[in-house]
Amino acid sequence: MAKQVVVFAETKNGSLRNVSLEVLEAARRVNDGGLITAVIIGSQPEALADSLAVYGANEVVFIENEILNTYTTDGYTQAFTTIIEDKNPDIILMPHTALGKDFAPRVAARLGCGLITDCTDVEISEGHIVFTRPIYAGKAFQRRVVSHDKIFATIRPNNIPCSKMDHHEAPKKIQKTLNLDEIRTTVKEVIQKTTDGVDLSEAKIIVAGGRGVKSTAGFEPLKELAQVIGAAVGASRGACDAEYCDYALQIGQTGKVVTPDLYIACGISGAIQHLAGMSNSKIIVAINKDPEAPIFDIADYGIVGDLFEVIPLLTKQFKQV
Ligand code: FAD
Repeated sequence: MAKQVVVFAETKNGSLRNVSLEVLEAARRVNDGGLITAVIIGSQPEALADSLAVYGANEVVFIENEILNTYTTDGYTQAFTTIIEDKNPDIILMPHTALGKDFAPRVAARLGCGLITDCTDVEISEGHIVFTRPIYAGKAFQRRVVSHDKIFATIRPNNIPCSKMDHHEAPKKIQKTLNLDEIRTTVKEVIQKTTDGVDLSEAKIIVAGGRGVKSTAGFEPLKELAQVIGAAVGASRGACDAEYCDYALQIGQTGKVVTPDLYIACGISGAIQHLAGMSNSKIIVAINKDPEAPIFDIADYGIVGDLFEVIPLLTKQFKQV
Protein backbone atom coordinates (compact mmCIF):
# COMPACT_ATOMS: atom_id res chain seq x y z
CA MET A 1 0.00 0.00 0.00
CA ALA A 2 1.33 3.44 -0.93
CA LYS A 3 2.97 5.20 2.02
CA GLN A 4 3.42 8.90 2.44
CA VAL A 5 6.96 9.68 3.55
CA VAL A 6 8.35 12.91 4.98
CA VAL A 7 12.13 13.34 4.83
CA PHE A 8 14.22 15.95 6.62
CA ALA A 9 16.70 17.26 4.04
CA GLU A 10 19.74 18.53 5.91
CA THR A 11 21.86 21.26 4.37
CA LYS A 12 25.28 22.69 5.10
CA ASN A 13 26.40 26.11 3.88
CA GLY A 14 23.54 26.23 1.38
CA SER A 15 24.19 22.77 -0.13
CA LEU A 16 22.45 19.47 0.50
CA ARG A 17 24.38 17.04 2.64
CA ASN A 18 24.93 13.75 0.82
CA VAL A 19 23.14 11.88 3.60
CA SER A 20 19.94 13.76 2.69
CA LEU A 21 20.02 12.00 -0.70
CA GLU A 22 20.67 8.67 1.04
CA VAL A 23 17.62 9.26 3.22
CA LEU A 24 15.60 9.94 0.05
CA GLU A 25 16.85 6.61 -1.33
CA ALA A 26 15.58 4.93 1.85
CA ALA A 27 12.24 6.70 1.34
CA ARG A 28 12.02 5.34 -2.23
CA ARG A 29 12.56 1.81 -0.93
CA VAL A 30 9.56 2.00 1.39
CA ASN A 31 7.07 4.45 -0.12
CA ASP A 32 5.50 1.90 -2.49
CA GLY A 33 4.44 4.64 -4.91
CA GLY A 34 3.35 7.09 -2.20
CA LEU A 35 4.23 10.78 -1.98
CA ILE A 36 7.72 11.72 -0.79
CA THR A 37 7.94 15.17 0.78
CA ALA A 38 11.34 16.66 1.59
CA VAL A 39 11.46 19.38 4.24
CA ILE A 40 14.14 22.07 4.22
CA ILE A 41 14.39 24.37 7.22
CA GLY A 42 15.84 27.90 7.17
CA SER A 43 16.47 30.26 4.32
CA GLN A 44 17.93 28.02 1.61
CA PRO A 45 18.24 28.33 -2.17
CA GLU A 46 15.12 27.15 -3.99
CA ALA A 47 17.33 25.35 -6.51
CA LEU A 48 17.84 22.62 -3.90
CA ALA A 49 14.30 21.43 -4.66
CA ASP A 50 15.36 20.27 -8.13
CA SER A 51 18.31 18.30 -6.75
CA LEU A 52 15.96 16.62 -4.27
CA ALA A 53 13.56 15.73 -7.08
CA VAL A 54 16.37 14.01 -8.99
CA TYR A 55 16.71 11.67 -6.00
CA GLY A 56 13.00 11.05 -5.52
CA ALA A 57 11.24 13.96 -3.78
CA ASN A 58 7.81 14.75 -5.25
CA GLU A 59 7.37 17.91 -3.23
CA VAL A 60 9.66 20.13 -1.22
CA VAL A 61 8.55 22.24 1.73
CA PHE A 62 10.73 25.25 2.59
CA ILE A 63 10.12 26.49 6.12
CA GLU A 64 11.18 30.06 6.56
CA ASN A 65 11.50 32.19 9.63
CA GLU A 66 14.44 34.40 10.46
CA ILE A 67 14.90 32.53 13.71
CA LEU A 68 15.49 29.27 11.82
CA ASN A 69 18.47 30.56 9.87
CA THR A 70 20.66 29.21 12.64
CA TYR A 71 20.03 25.76 14.10
CA THR A 72 18.42 25.59 17.51
CA THR A 73 16.98 22.44 19.00
CA ASP A 74 13.64 23.92 19.93
CA GLY A 75 13.29 25.93 16.68
CA TYR A 76 13.87 22.93 14.43
CA THR A 77 11.80 20.65 16.68
CA GLN A 78 8.85 23.00 16.50
CA ALA A 79 9.15 23.64 12.77
CA PHE A 80 9.54 19.99 11.73
CA THR A 81 6.82 18.79 14.12
CA THR A 82 4.41 21.36 12.68
CA ILE A 83 4.96 20.06 9.13
CA ILE A 84 4.57 16.44 10.21
CA GLU A 85 1.33 17.21 12.04
CA ASP A 86 0.13 18.99 8.92
CA LYS A 87 1.14 16.22 6.49
CA ASN A 88 0.38 13.27 8.76
CA PRO A 89 2.79 10.90 6.93
CA ASP A 90 3.09 7.14 7.51
CA ILE A 91 6.89 7.30 7.63
CA ILE A 92 9.35 10.00 8.75
CA LEU A 93 13.05 9.65 7.89
CA MET A 94 15.96 11.81 8.98
CA PRO A 95 19.77 11.69 8.73
CA HIS A 96 21.52 10.27 11.81
CA THR A 97 23.81 13.29 12.05
CA ALA A 98 24.55 15.61 14.96
CA LEU A 99 21.31 17.47 14.11
CA GLY A 100 19.28 14.30 13.66
CA LYS A 101 20.55 12.85 16.93
CA ASP A 102 19.71 16.08 18.68
CA PHE A 103 16.19 16.86 17.55
CA ALA A 104 14.67 13.62 16.17
CA PRO A 105 13.97 12.23 19.70
CA ARG A 106 12.18 15.45 20.65
CA VAL A 107 10.03 15.35 17.51
CA ALA A 108 9.18 11.70 18.24
CA ALA A 109 8.24 12.55 21.82
CA ARG A 110 5.96 15.35 20.64
CA LEU A 111 4.30 13.08 18.11
CA GLY A 112 3.95 10.31 20.69
CA CYS A 113 5.61 7.74 18.44
CA GLY A 114 8.76 5.64 18.77
CA LEU A 115 12.07 6.30 17.05
CA ILE A 116 14.37 3.73 15.51
CA THR A 117 17.82 5.28 15.34
CA ASP A 118 21.06 4.87 13.42
CA CYS A 119 19.72 2.52 10.72
CA THR A 120 22.27 1.19 8.26
CA ASP A 121 19.72 -0.42 5.95
CA VAL A 122 16.01 -0.55 5.21
CA GLU A 123 14.08 -2.96 3.02
CA ILE A 124 10.67 -4.45 2.50
CA SER A 125 10.66 -8.10 3.54
CA GLU A 126 7.54 -10.31 3.58
CA GLY A 127 5.37 -7.21 3.44
CA HIS A 128 7.06 -5.52 6.41
CA ILE A 129 9.39 -2.55 6.46
CA VAL A 130 12.55 -3.89 8.12
CA PHE A 131 15.25 -1.61 9.53
CA THR A 132 18.79 -2.86 10.27
CA ARG A 133 20.76 -1.14 13.02
CA PRO A 134 23.96 -1.88 14.95
CA ILE A 135 23.86 -3.01 18.59
CA TYR A 136 26.55 -3.75 21.21
CA ALA A 137 28.78 -0.99 19.83
CA GLY A 138 28.61 -2.44 16.30
CA LYS A 139 29.43 -6.06 17.28
CA ALA A 140 26.03 -7.25 16.04
CA PHE A 141 23.15 -6.01 13.94
CA GLN A 142 19.45 -6.28 14.69
CA ARG A 143 16.59 -6.20 12.21
CA ARG A 144 13.56 -4.35 13.51
CA VAL A 145 9.96 -4.16 12.33
CA VAL A 146 7.98 -1.23 13.74
CA SER A 147 4.44 -2.08 14.80
CA HIS A 148 3.35 1.53 15.48
CA ASP A 149 1.26 3.03 12.68
CA LYS A 150 3.70 5.94 12.38
CA ILE A 151 7.26 4.88 11.59
CA PHE A 152 10.08 7.28 12.45
CA ALA A 153 13.74 6.40 11.79
CA THR A 154 17.15 8.03 11.44
CA ILE A 155 19.59 6.80 8.79
CA ARG A 156 23.35 6.53 9.34
CA PRO A 157 25.38 8.44 6.69
CA ASN A 158 27.32 6.57 3.99
CA ASN A 159 25.39 3.29 4.24
CA ILE A 160 22.56 3.43 1.72
CA PRO A 161 23.96 4.10 -1.76
CA CYS A 162 21.81 6.72 -3.47
CA SER A 163 21.00 6.81 -7.14
CA LYS A 164 19.31 9.32 -9.41
CA MET A 165 15.79 8.59 -10.67
CA ASP A 166 15.53 7.46 -14.31
CA HIS A 167 12.71 9.96 -14.79
CA HIS A 168 11.54 12.67 -12.48
CA GLU A 169 9.09 15.52 -12.61
CA ALA A 170 9.58 19.05 -11.36
CA PRO A 171 8.77 18.97 -7.66
CA LYS A 172 5.92 20.90 -6.11
CA LYS A 173 7.53 23.69 -4.09
CA ILE A 174 5.77 24.90 -0.98
CA GLN A 175 6.95 27.92 1.01
CA LYS A 176 5.80 27.98 4.65
CA THR A 177 6.27 30.88 6.99
CA LEU A 178 5.73 29.57 10.48
CA ASN A 179 4.80 31.47 13.57
CA LEU A 180 7.12 29.99 16.11
CA ASP A 181 5.96 31.17 19.51
CA GLU A 182 7.60 28.72 21.88
CA ILE A 183 11.26 29.32 21.02
CA ARG A 184 13.27 29.61 24.21
CA THR A 185 16.70 29.79 22.58
CA THR A 186 18.19 32.56 20.48
CA VAL A 187 21.63 32.25 18.94
CA LYS A 188 23.61 35.46 19.29
CA GLU A 189 26.76 34.39 17.49
CA VAL A 190 28.20 31.31 15.83
CA ILE A 191 31.95 30.78 16.09
CA GLN A 192 32.85 28.15 13.55
CA LYS A 193 35.73 25.84 14.32
CA THR A 194 37.96 25.85 11.26
CA THR A 195 38.82 22.38 10.07
CA ASP A 196 41.10 21.79 7.13
CA GLY A 197 40.20 19.58 4.21
CA VAL A 198 37.40 17.05 3.91
CA ASP A 199 34.47 16.78 6.37
CA LEU A 200 35.07 13.66 8.47
CA SER A 201 31.47 12.48 8.73
CA GLU A 202 30.95 12.37 4.95
CA ALA A 203 34.47 11.46 3.83
CA LYS A 204 34.90 8.57 1.41
CA ILE A 205 38.49 8.03 2.61
CA ILE A 206 39.80 8.56 6.15
CA VAL A 207 43.36 8.45 7.42
CA ALA A 208 43.15 8.08 11.21
CA GLY A 209 45.94 8.33 13.74
CA GLY A 210 46.21 6.85 17.22
CA ARG A 211 48.54 7.12 20.16
CA GLY A 212 51.17 5.54 17.90
CA VAL A 213 51.66 8.88 16.10
CA LYS A 214 53.29 10.02 19.36
CA SER A 215 52.86 13.82 19.00
CA THR A 216 51.04 16.63 17.20
CA ALA A 217 53.92 16.75 14.71
CA GLY A 218 53.45 13.00 14.23
CA PHE A 219 50.14 13.75 12.50
CA GLU A 220 51.92 15.64 9.69
CA PRO A 221 52.73 12.54 7.54
CA LEU A 222 49.07 11.45 7.93
CA LYS A 223 47.86 14.89 6.83
CA GLU A 224 50.14 14.80 3.80
CA LEU A 225 48.88 11.35 2.79
CA ALA A 226 45.29 12.53 3.33
CA GLN A 227 45.85 15.55 1.13
CA VAL A 228 47.31 13.45 -1.69
CA ILE A 229 44.45 10.91 -1.71
CA GLY A 230 41.62 13.36 -0.93
CA ALA A 231 40.95 11.95 2.53
CA ALA A 232 39.81 13.40 5.84
CA VAL A 233 41.98 13.02 8.94
CA GLY A 234 40.51 11.29 11.99
CA ALA A 235 41.86 10.04 15.31
CA SER A 236 41.40 7.60 18.14
CA ARG A 237 40.50 8.86 21.57
CA GLY A 238 43.98 7.82 22.65
CA ALA A 239 45.43 10.46 20.31
CA CYS A 240 42.87 13.08 21.40
CA ASP A 241 43.41 12.41 25.11
CA ALA A 242 47.15 12.76 24.59
CA GLU A 243 46.40 16.19 23.02
CA TYR A 244 47.99 15.27 19.70
CA CYS A 245 44.86 16.56 17.93
CA ASP A 246 41.44 18.10 18.50
CA TYR A 247 38.53 16.07 19.91
CA ALA A 248 36.57 17.06 16.76
CA LEU A 249 38.59 14.34 15.01
CA GLN A 250 37.69 11.55 17.46
CA ILE A 251 36.12 8.46 15.92
CA GLY A 252 34.40 5.82 18.02
CA GLN A 253 31.73 5.12 20.57
CA THR A 254 32.01 8.59 22.10
CA GLY A 255 33.22 10.26 18.91
CA LYS A 256 32.01 10.29 15.33
CA VAL A 257 30.63 7.21 13.60
CA VAL A 258 32.02 6.95 10.09
CA THR A 259 31.50 4.57 7.17
CA PRO A 260 34.03 5.53 4.49
CA ASP A 261 34.95 3.39 1.49
CA LEU A 262 38.52 3.26 2.80
CA TYR A 263 39.74 3.64 6.41
CA ILE A 264 43.49 3.72 7.03
CA ALA A 265 44.19 3.21 10.76
CA CYS A 266 47.71 4.29 11.71
CA GLY A 267 49.10 3.44 15.14
CA ILE A 268 45.65 2.54 16.48
CA SER A 269 45.39 -0.63 18.60
CA GLY A 270 41.73 -1.38 17.78
CA ALA A 271 39.92 -1.03 21.12
CA ILE A 272 36.23 -1.97 20.96
CA GLN A 273 35.24 1.66 21.59
CA HIS A 274 37.21 2.73 18.52
CA LEU A 275 35.80 -0.09 16.38
CA ALA A 276 32.27 1.08 17.31
CA GLY A 277 32.89 4.16 15.18
CA MET A 278 34.56 2.68 12.12
CA SER A 279 34.12 -1.10 11.82
CA ASN A 280 31.44 -0.62 9.12
CA SER A 281 34.00 0.99 6.79
CA LYS A 282 34.04 -0.81 3.47
CA ILE A 283 37.80 -1.47 3.36
CA ILE A 284 40.03 -1.19 6.43
CA VAL A 285 43.80 -0.90 6.20
CA ALA A 286 45.77 -1.09 9.46
CA ILE A 287 49.35 0.05 9.96
CA ASN A 288 50.74 -1.03 13.31
CA LYS A 289 54.14 -2.19 14.50
CA ASP A 290 52.58 -4.78 16.83
CA PRO A 291 51.48 -7.86 14.82
CA GLU A 292 49.18 -8.86 17.71
CA ALA A 293 47.24 -5.55 17.68
CA PRO A 294 43.45 -6.29 17.65
CA ILE A 295 42.93 -3.86 14.75
CA PHE A 296 44.35 -6.58 12.48
CA ASP A 297 41.37 -8.84 13.37
CA ILE A 298 39.01 -6.56 11.47
CA ALA A 299 41.42 -5.16 8.87
CA ASP A 300 41.11 -6.21 5.23
CA TYR A 301 44.76 -5.33 4.69
CA GLY A 302 47.40 -5.14 7.41
CA ILE A 303 50.86 -3.63 7.31
CA VAL A 304 53.10 -4.59 10.23
CA GLY A 305 55.62 -1.78 10.48
CA ASP A 306 56.54 1.63 11.76
CA LEU A 307 53.97 4.16 10.52
CA PHE A 308 56.69 6.81 10.15
CA GLU A 309 58.35 4.60 7.54
CA VAL A 310 55.22 3.15 5.89
CA ILE A 311 53.13 6.33 5.45
CA PRO A 312 55.77 8.37 3.53
CA LEU A 313 56.20 5.37 1.20
CA LEU A 314 52.44 5.24 0.57
CA THR A 315 52.31 9.01 0.00
CA LYS A 316 55.19 8.77 -2.48
CA GLN A 317 53.45 5.97 -4.38
CA PHE A 318 50.08 7.75 -4.49
CA LYS A 319 51.75 10.93 -5.74
CA GLN A 320 52.91 8.98 -8.78
CA VAL A 321 49.40 7.68 -9.63
P1 FAD B 1 46.72 2.55 22.10
O1 FAD B 1 45.75 1.54 22.56
O2 FAD B 1 47.77 3.00 23.04
O3 FAD B 1 47.40 1.97 20.79
C1 FAD B 1 48.47 2.57 20.13
C2 FAD B 1 48.92 1.61 19.04
O4 FAD B 1 49.92 2.24 18.27
C3 FAD B 1 49.50 0.29 19.56
O5 FAD B 1 48.79 -0.79 18.99
C4 FAD B 1 50.95 0.33 19.10
O6 FAD B 1 51.42 -0.97 18.72
C5 FAD B 1 50.87 1.23 17.90
N1 FAD B 1 52.12 1.94 17.60
C6 FAD B 1 52.93 2.63 18.44
N2 FAD B 1 53.94 3.19 17.76
C7 FAD B 1 53.79 2.86 16.45
C8 FAD B 1 54.50 3.15 15.27
N3 FAD B 1 55.60 3.93 15.29
N4 FAD B 1 54.06 2.63 14.11
C9 FAD B 1 52.93 1.86 14.06
N5 FAD B 1 52.23 1.55 15.16
C10 FAD B 1 52.64 2.06 16.35
N6 FAD B 1 38.54 5.24 21.92
C11 FAD B 1 38.33 5.70 20.69
O7 FAD B 1 39.20 5.64 19.81
N7 FAD B 1 37.12 6.31 20.38
C12 FAD B 1 36.12 6.42 21.28
O8 FAD B 1 35.06 6.98 20.94
C13 FAD B 1 36.31 5.91 22.58
N8 FAD B 1 35.32 5.98 23.50
C14 FAD B 1 35.53 5.42 24.73
C15 FAD B 1 34.48 5.40 25.67
C16 FAD B 1 34.68 4.82 26.89
C17 FAD B 1 33.53 4.80 27.87
C18 FAD B 1 35.92 4.26 27.22
C19 FAD B 1 36.14 3.59 28.56
C20 FAD B 1 36.96 4.27 26.32
C21 FAD B 1 36.78 4.86 25.07
N9 FAD B 1 37.82 4.89 24.13
C22 FAD B 1 37.57 5.35 22.89
C23 FAD B 1 39.21 4.53 24.48
C24 FAD B 1 39.63 3.16 24.03
O9 FAD B 1 39.28 2.21 25.04
C25 FAD B 1 41.17 3.10 23.83
O10 FAD B 1 41.81 3.50 25.01
C26 FAD B 1 41.66 3.99 22.69
O11 FAD B 1 40.93 3.74 21.50
C27 FAD B 1 43.12 3.67 22.43
O12 FAD B 1 43.63 4.54 21.46
P2 FAD B 1 44.83 4.08 20.53
O13 FAD B 1 44.49 2.83 19.81
O14 FAD B 1 45.23 5.26 19.74
O15 FAD B 1 46.01 3.86 21.62
